[in-house]
Amino acid sequence: MDPQELSRQKELLKEVYATCSRLKKIPLNDLLSALEEGKILYLEGLAVPAFRLKRDFRGLAAGTVVAPGVLIEGFPHIPRIFVLKTGIPRYLHGPFYAEEKIEGYNVRLARIGGEIKAFTRRGFVCPFATDRWPDFLPRLPDFFDEFPSYVICCEVAGPENPFVTEWPPYIKEDVRFFCFDIWDVSTERFLKPEEKYALLRRFSFPTPEISGPFSPEELKPLEELLLRYEEEGREGVVLKPLSFKKGRVIKYVTPASNVSDLRVAFPYLGELDPSYVVHRLVRMAISRWELGLGFDEEFYQALGAAIFEETSRVLHRVARGEPVEEVFRVRFRREEALEALISHFRTAQVRIEIRRKEWQEGYLRVTFAKIYPKATSFWASKLQGLAQID
Ligand code: ATP
Repeated sequence: MDPQELSRQKELLKEVYATCSRLKKIPLNDLLSALEEGKILYLEGLAVPAFRLKRDFRGLAAGTVVAPGVLIEGFPHIPRIFVLKTGIPRYLHGPFYAEEKIEGYNVRLARIGGEIKAFTRRGFVCPFATDRWPDFLPRLPDFFDEFPSYVICCEVAGPENPFVTEWPPYIKEDVRFFCFDIWDVSTERFLKPEEKYALLRRFSFPTPEISGPFSPEELKPLEELLLRYEEEGREGVVLKPLSFKKGRVIKYVTPASNVSDLRVAFPYLGELDPSYVVHRLVRMAISRWELGLGFDEEFYQALGAAIFEETSRVLHRVARGEPVEEVFRVRFRREEALEALISHFRTAQVRIEIRRKEWQEGYLRVTFAKIYPKATSFWASKLQGLAQID
């Protein structure tokens, strides 16, 4: 970064620091050094100066956003259990709810400097969710009028989202927003489930399916729920204790969701760490075993098809000299949001090509392809006969 820009950003960081009590737990000089080292980055796209944390830093999670008077923590990672019978009693010591785990991408919605913005897990402003929340959460401005220090955590999911190629099977077009947590910036806490559900209901914010409360002593009803989710191709559950003193939030996914992850991931090896595949195979083996789903021909056939059908198409493409790509479709309310998304991809070093763009019934409908250079060379180098020591 050129020295002039760095000193401008340092001045802005000092301004933010002076207004943000939570940030003051960290010495200012350490933050200024972190800015120099690229661990804290200036955040574009807001009316006020703001920064995001690239990695975990001094007790703050990656994706934390700081702006004048506000610090929005990065959304925490949720520990995964592999076995219900032994995992639940280990982490949950009282009644708990099972919220459907929605397959999509995480955004935190907050009002900063008078504007409602959606932040991605990494702390970028998400141009897509920032453009579309009014369609799904029309009462968000009233909510922030009443609760200015709250942050709504939600999953944006559906076949027409710009980031992920899996979505809940019951969403047939466009996207939906599912609100699953409320973070209070002033107390640095998540609201307890029942308080949160009441508020989400009051403002008509859609939520994931909520089941329970369940008891850690009686897991049959939860197993039945998961068998239904398995049948319906849903991702799994996030288990949330009624009282955070009586346990912690944990997640568990259905075997089917692992099959579906492999379908969308295997052709793109090279972009992903190969351990991604192993983790899913291990989870799937254990959960099928525990849920009594067994290992039969039908399962082997479904798993094999999931992994190899798309991969064989990718091999044909690469053999013809074409790059590995994935096609996305999205709808915007405003053209500027598309421009902001293109610039977001540029910053995140994701190569995209716009394939189609037209206004239809009030929405700008866009088709674009993401080009995957690492996946392309992963397969191409092998197809070109290169030897490898493994
Ligand atoms: P995944 O668990 O999907 O592999 P990940 O590696 O990002 O994703 P975590 O870091 O543990 O996992 O985060 C859990 C993810 O689950 C978050 O991205 C969050 O948005 C998503 N999620 C979906 N539904 C819920 C829900 N009902 N409650 C909490 N988180 C949920």
